[in-house]
Amino acid sequence: RRQAGDVAGRAKVLGERARDLRGKLAGRHERRQQLGQRQRVQVGRRDGRGHRPDGIQPAMASIFTRIIQGEIPCHRLYEDEHVIAFLDIMPLSRGHALVVPKEERAKLHELSPAAAAACGAALQRVAKAIVAATGAEDYNVLQNNGAAAHQAVMHVHFHVIPKHADGTGLGIGWNAGKLGTDEGKALAESVRAAMA
Ligand code: 5GP
Repeated sequence: RRQAGDVAGRAKVLGERARDLRGKLAGRHERRQQLGQRQRVQVGRRDGRGHRPDGIQPAMASIFTRIIQGEIPCHRLYEDEHVIAFLDIMPLSRGHALVVPKEERAKLHELSPAAAAACGAALQRVAKAIVAATGAEDYNVLQNNGAAAHQAVMHVHFHVIPKHADGTGLGIGWNAGKLGTDEGKALAESVRAAMA
């Protein structure tokens, strides 16, 4: 009977421990959920234009932001505080590269002056290195803004596309019109006014 009593006692202790553990786990789960909600609120914080102060919009992190964050691999050519440059995964020619601001904005005019300036400086360095490494002296810099303008990845990027002797590189359809004097004057005036 004493033995039966011991077994029953041990079972009771084990039962209590199990209840204890379940309680602790439930508490941890709840704390994790609360923390997750707090993090989501912080991550979701935006300025008046829907942008986060650090320029990254994590709810819709672009493929390039995921490359910048090291989540997706790339063949990196250059990186500094504001910019990364890497080889295009579907190159038009050998050496086709992308220069991308770390600030995630869809279109060029939405970039901060600092990010835009950093892109300009990086473009010159990357282009110079691509010319040296590939031997292609001619190249195009292409920057698409908006789906109608052939932009597929809605995170600003500049293509550097070498034009090789075998003809590979960017093909361009250029249906030029003619700028009339009056039209040119009025247009230039309105653009200047928009910059003032
Ligand atoms: P867009 O038409 O937007 O100006 O060009 C987007 C470019 O990004 C394309 O040339 C495409 O090949 C490139 N691209 C898209 N996804 C990736 C990727 O995951 N890695 C790399 N390296 N390039 C990419």
